[in-house]
Amino acid sequence: MKYLQYKRPSTYLIVLSFVILGLGFVMAFYVHNTVENLKFDAKIINETGIIRGSIQRATKLVLSNSQNLSNETIWEINSLFDHFIAENDRSRHPGVEETVFLGLLDLREKWFSLEGLLIEYRVNPSEQVRSGILLESEHCWEAADSVVLAAQYTTEGKVGNFTVFYRILAINAITAILVILYVIVYVRKKLEYESSHDALTGLFNRRSYEKMIQSEIARCTRYSSKLSLIVFDVDKFKLINDHNGHGAGDRVLADIAEAVKDSIRVTDVVFRVGGDEFAVISPETDADGAFQLAEKIRKRIEQHSFATGNTETVSLGIAEFKKGITKKVLYRHADTALYIAKSNGRNRSETWVK
Ligand code: GH3
Ligand code: MG
Repeated sequence: MKYLQYKRPSTYLIVLSFVILGLGFVMAFYVHNTVENLKFDAKIINETGIIRGSIQRATKLVLSNSQNLSNETIWEINSLFDHFIAENDRSRHPGVEETVFLGLLDLREKWFSLEGLLIEYRVNPSEQVRSGILLESEHCWEAADSVVLAAQYTTEGKVGNFTVFYRILAINAITAILVILYVIVYVRKKLEYESSHDALTGLFNRRSYEKMIQSEIARCTRYSSKLSLIVFDVDKFKLINDHNGHGAGDRVLADIAEAVKDSIRVTDVVFRVGGDEFAVISPETDADGAFQLAEKIRKRIEQHSFATGNTETVSLGIAEFKKGITKKVLYRHADTALYIAKSNGRNRSETWVK
């Protein structure tokens, strides 16, 4: 059994969250921009229609010799062009596409020619000017149509480009799902870790011990292999607490855990089974081998320099598994041997014998 690890989610989670946030901003910007552009295209289509109608009306009024064509009508038509074309004819509103802009310039140029003829016709209503008006009016109509068509074409293109938005949305949704999955996996691992480990020492806890000894006994029974259990307890631990405080006592327990982890093989597993009581399950090991391991642990702890400044020791009880006994009995054997080690003066290892 390996020491279960769970990694902090920090880096992945932060990066993925920033991706979602970043894509969210890109989408918001993209949608805002596209909608504004579409609104502007609609305005162009609408107002070009008004220009076209106004030009036709102005032409009709002048040709029917009505005096109704005022400078105001001419001004209204010109001011509609100003919505899209700046004074110098060069700059255009960012929402106006190049083709639409060129069309508007062309339409305005034709309107200027017509406007000149309409003014002239009021003072010189000759047949020649009249023909010129009809011709220019037709040109204006065609030019206005081209602008509307170009604007409709660019609008369709922009709507088509919305597939980019859907792609970004899909990427964002996938990233969000990844974050959720990652959080689920992380929380599950953290819960698994916390239910199987002791918070103070980081060792496996009593629950894990019960599970592992059960499966090791089953394995031993099936394959007739060897198995030993070592139970050890800190000597006079109450005094450490009393003299140095509970915090120092905790530190000693954590140090002992580290020292034991360093002394055992990868196949041996150490558990904190109670307050100052630990257990080592040692598979493929008989009582003699377990005794040697127990002595190694004992000496390692005796030699450790603890923060208390004192030498701390442990007493150890060893029991070898015999076919037919339960995990409870195996533990009792090891605990009895530990009791004997305490009785015989502590800081020693004793093996249970029938
Ligand atoms: P002995 O040599 O006979 O084992 O003497 P002892 O003083 O160690 O006696 P015992 O093992 O019965 O005492 C264990 C003490 O450990 C009792 C309790 O106050 C203390 N203890 C239990 N859990 C913790 C813990 O998590 N932290 C600290 N600091 N002390 C604990
Ligand atoms: Mg003790």
